Amino acid sequence: MQSKLPHIGTSIFTVMSQLAVKHNAINLGQGFPDFPMSEALIDCVTEAMKAGGNQYAHTYGAPILRERLAEKINFLYQTTIQPETEITVTPGGTYAIFSAFSTIIQPGDEVIIFEPAYDSYIPNITFNGGIVVPIALEFPNYSIPWDKVKAAITKKTKAILVNTPHNPTGVVMTKEDMLQLQEIVLSNHLYLISDEVYEHLIYDDKKHESVLKYPELFARSFVCFSFGKTYHCTGWKLGYCVAPENLIKEYRKVHQFNAFSCDTPKQLGIAKHMLAKEAYLSLGNFYQAKRDYLRKLLANTPLKYIASSGSYFESYSYAGLSNESDQVFAQKLVKDFGVAVIPMSAFYHDGTDHKVIRLCFAKKEATLDAAAACLQKL
Ligand code: PMP
Ligand code: GLN
Repeated sequence: MQSKLPHIGTSIFTVMSQLAVKHNAINLGQGFPDFPMSEALIDCVTEAMKAGGNQYAHTYGAPILRERLAEKINFLYQTTIQPETEITVTPGGTYAIFSAFSTIIQPGDEVIIFEPAYDSYIPNITFNGGIVVPIALEFPNYSIPWDKVKAAITKKTKAILVNTPHNPTGVVMTKEDMLQLQEIVLSNHLYLISDEVYEHLIYDDKKHESVLKYPELFARSFVCFSFGKTYHCTGWKLGYCVAPENLIKEYRKVHQFNAFSCDTPKQLGIAKHMLAKEAYLSLGNFYQAKRDYLRKLLANTPLKYIASSGSYFESYSYAGLSNESDQVFAQKLVKDFGVAVIPMSAFYHDGTDHKVIRLCFAKKEATLDAAAACLQKL
């Protein structure tokens, strides 16, 4: 069979998690919490199942969930989103993003992404017939080089993808970034896919600059979210896309004949649980404490953090310790030191290697303690 993705191998997250199991290592690689999710939310889902919420949900998402999402968006971003016509619930954030690409990309269209980039973007664009135009964030502060973005735009440029807070670097976009982005998107009639799955995981008193706060930009955008990050349940694979009616009309055609609809009891359970705003409003402080805890534990090791202000990742440079490639270094950490991490080069199409690894701090203190004890031996 002719491969549609001839250059794509196994995701680095799968590779490192398998190695973690094989070597019985502590997994700070793949991003997922190792502590329990809310019992209250589990109860809400159980109640929904017991009450008979077990058949197909509405294809665009359970109406009550879409209403709650519109209320939440209004509360957080002071904008009015129509639940009937501007929100579609999806089986996870990755699917929400993939569907946006499927909606807009025609063969040969160019899509600009920033690297290091979350690993699904390139295969998603390629699979949909698009051409990836990668632009490297400036190392080591991972800022967006807007001049290079402007220079990369051609007649074929169809869209830009942004991700804030950013995986893997934890960098967050500023208001100035958003205004630059808006200017570029509007003046070139582009579309924007905004990956905001870490919207609540933001630190150091920074504010999340959602595209939803920029009405003119939103008019050209698909804004994608994931409940997995917000409610510590990455295995639930539930998310949503917010986009203006004219865009989401086409998006829903793609969704309708792919997933058609999403897990009903989880939608109903989350809709009920969403009334407790504290669950998401407390996430910033909760995860900032974990980021700082890990920083402190690693302070006297040769690993030097490159500051993250969001997401549940922080990258660490080992340049002072070794010249090995980050792939080799990551292999050594998992095999000889018992800690799985992600080599940052995996997030670059050309394997750019700055001697940096990504650590996930969405872990119990005991897990971070145990990982740090292993890394002290470096
Ligand atoms: N985008 C980014 C940047 C992510 O880190 C993740 C989570 N792995 C996703 C999208 C996908 O979220 P989901 O697990 O809901 O598909
Ligand atoms: N988002 C998670 C990460 O960046 C993993 C998702 C996955 O395994 N596909 O680690």
